[in-house]
Amino acid sequence: MGAGPALTPMGSCRKLALPMTQQTRHKVQSVDPRRLKLADPAGTSGVLLGFQCRQCGVQVFGPATYCQSCTSNDLAPVELSQRGILYSFTVVRVPPAGWPGAVPYILGQVELPEGPHVLAEVIDCAPTGLKIGMEMALALTHVQAEGSEVVRVVYKWRPQTPSANFPEGKP
Ligand SMILES: [Zn+2]
Repeated sequence: MGAGPALTPMGSCRKLALPMTQQTRHKVQSVDPRRLKLADPAGTSGVLLGFQCRQCGVQVFGPATYCQSCTSNDLAPVELSQRGILYSFTVVRVPPAGWPGAVPYILGQVELPEGPHVLAEVIDCAPTGLKIGMEMALALTHVQAEGSEVVRVVYKWRPQTPSANFPEGKP
């Protein structure tokens, strides 16, 4: 039960008091249903989606119409692992237009056991706490644009053992 950061901003300027009987009208959606399938209506868990080539067995993350390895178009949809190892990462100081999160942030490339690499933000860890090859776990966060009733569920990575690599008071 991933007890992530509270999703309710205490300081938000919500002016209307909601009647207690009002049901939530938030629509919870995957940020990209071709890559992330939500496993429950609240969007607290989900799985990464991809395809496996029936000819050569190579798996890819996300939508595909043909195999990038052997060019076969005989592909089967698969669900991918929610863990992998950190293959590469970088600190992004100039985000893409419309980036909703904090800056700078860490962009991590994680290699799944099936082979595909999945690029996503790394959370709950400072860059100094990351090591290539360390185990990473899928993390889902919720993003809601101001004034929108749609809550988008975004996939990210976090170290499997957060803060494990932080030095403890050593210079
Ligand atoms: Zn193939």
